[in-house]
Amino acid sequence: MTNRFKALVLTQGDDGRTLCEERVLEASDLMDGDVDVAVEATTVNYKDGLAITGRSPVVRRWPMVPGVDLAGTVTASRSPLWREGDRVILNGWGVGETHYGAYAGLVRVKAEWLVALPERFSFQEAMAIGTAGYTAMLALLALERFGVSPDHGPALVTGAAGGVGSVAVSLLAGRGWHVVASTGRPAEAGWLGDLGAAEVVDRSELSASPKPLARERWAAGIDSVGGTTLANALAATRRQGAIAACGLAGGMELPGSVAPFILRGVALLGIDSVMAPRPLREEAWARLAADLAPGTLAHIEVPIGFADIVATAHAILEGRVRGRVVVTDV
Ligand code: NDP
Repeated sequence: MTNRFKALVLTQGDDGRTLCEERVLEASDLMDGDVDVAVEATTVNYKDGLAITGRSPVVRRWPMVPGVDLAGTVTASRSPLWREGDRVILNGWGVGETHYGAYAGLVRVKAEWLVALPERFSFQEAMAIGTAGYTAMLALLALERFGVSPDHGPALVTGAAGGVGSVAVSLLAGRGWHVVASTGRPAEAGWLGDLGAAEVVDRSELSASPKPLARERWAAGIDSVGGTTLANALAATRRQGAIAACGLAGGMELPGSVAPFILRGVALLGIDSVMAPRPLREEAWARLAADLAPGTLAHIEVPIGFADIVATAHAILEGRVRGRVVVTDV
């Protein structure tokens, strides 16, 4: 790696619009941190789509290098935690939002933000998982801690053809759950079945105006859609079941009632991957290494080039990306 590298840089125009251009940066342009990491692979998450298009105020410092996720090699460390040559992953911590992020040849970050890349995964595979997959595992861990298990009934996954959803389907099926995959893309039913979905339902089933309670259908759920979908998912959750809420692809609001909580003992478990403490991240990555079925990542991965990141940012917000995007020519 030379001292100069390419990067995507976001700026804010006079009219408040977000502008994005490719620039050449130098190491001295980077923000403070005690570890330098050469970015070997990155990805495009829904949040990256929000940042690049400016659709939501994800970026809170200008200019900004976007990109919330990376896998790479340590090139310099002023921390005892890491040595040159270590293979690491970074998910979140405000990287790509308030700290220069992954769409660059080099990042400079805090040592505590990094997690060792499990032996099993290549850089490319780590990004086929990325924040979306690691969040799906945080959701599964939350459900397990709550105490639901496959013998209690099926597990619902919403936004099933998306990044969080596709990994969630595979992980739940691998642990023995009967997975009900909800999607707006019925043409992906076969692809979801190959990932482990036992049933595929149209997402319109969960988009009607929610009743306080509905017929009990699933004992658990991983929801990346929010809004009406989450309210309907809760209303149809069995007694003592739980839904892990991690996303808002369908809306920020929660237009339901307390009925599932107080009449069926249903729990709503919140998932925050960005500020999750390091031990929980390490547990999640170790479980991903242990649990992910062989072939899953090849099945969900969509390779794109660095030059395609901006177009993909728009596509992911329009629900046109299936599975997980991976960029290796950073
Ligand atoms: P993707 O775009 O890959 O997946 C989202 C999926 O949601 C789509 O593929 C689509 O699935 C479904 N969807 C999209 N729009 C709608 C809609 N209007 N109504 C119903 N369903 C819809 O995004 P990610 O998987 O990367 O992220 C999913 C969500 O999770 C985002 O909101 C993201 O911000 C959030 N997230 C939160 C994290 C946390 O820490 N809490 C971490 C990571 C992500 P289908 O085509 O199958 O219907």
